[in-house]
Amino acid sequence: MLDASPQTAARITENWLRVRDEVATAARMADRAIQDIRIVGVSKYVDVELTAQLVDAGCHALGESRPQNLWGKAEVLRQSNREIEWHLIGHLQRNKIRRTLSQITWLHSLDSLRLAEALNAELKTAHESNAPSAALNGPQITPKRLNVLVEVNVTQDTTKTGMMVDALYQAIDQMLDLPHLSLRGLMAMSSRDTGGVETRREFAAVRQLRDDLQVRCGPRAVLDQLSMGMSGDYREAISEGATMVRIGSSLWQGILP
Ligand SMILES: *Cc1c(COP(=O)(O)O)cnc(C)c1O
Repeated sequence: MLDASPQTAARITENWLRVRDEVATAARMADRAIQDIRIVGVSKYVDVELTAQLVDAGCHALGESRPQNLWGKAEVLRQSNREIEWHLIGHLQRNKIRRTLSQITWLHSLDSLRLAEALNAELKTAHESNAPSAALNGPQITPKRLNVLVEVNVTQDTTKTGMMVDALYQAIDQMLDLPHLSLRGLMAMSSRDTGGVETRREFAAVRQLRDDLQVRCGPRAVLDQLSMGMSGDYREAISEGATMVRIGSSLWQGILP
């Protein structure tokens, strides 16, 4: 990884503009509005200085997969007054909930009913007591309701993360009863990283699952978000209805070894 410099800033800006253009092209080809697709820049590969350069290039939604890394960057960058919306895209351990909740706007990786219940309980406490958050440079405002996506394992591959479809069906009613969670849709990863026909079929299955769940939920939830697609397969994801693409490597070309 290079150290941040004017050269890295120029390269990151070039990468950002290219990715944004490619996402716009994919949206156009799928007959979709570009405003309906949010690019979450995945900053897990780089340090906070390079992450700041991505924000300055124009990417204001950032994703991290490890809570500790998200905290560290969020706390530093908050002091610089950059406008950033943080997304946690990896597994959240229950002992990290409190500190994470004060930083994030979206959780893409809700993967069990137990985690949902623990999140709801923490949000309830935070809201009732108006307690200052555990963030180091707080006070940060913990939201009353957190936007969550259920991470699903649609290929039923036991080596992959995410909830199995039948487990999700068993848990969904209880999840919908949690007043501090706003269930907004699904997150999924393809079982391949190359794109192509099979990837597209998998993303189509995620969208179908979302549609079926929406029928099951009725007015209790608006499942309007699909987080799917990474550097290797966001075109397929956009053509199958992704509203959030989580892009890392493509944004760091020329920066990472
Ligand atoms: C790392 C990561 C990404 C980004 O992947 P790239 O292939 O680098 O674009 C997206 N989603 C999740 C969950 C990740 O962990």
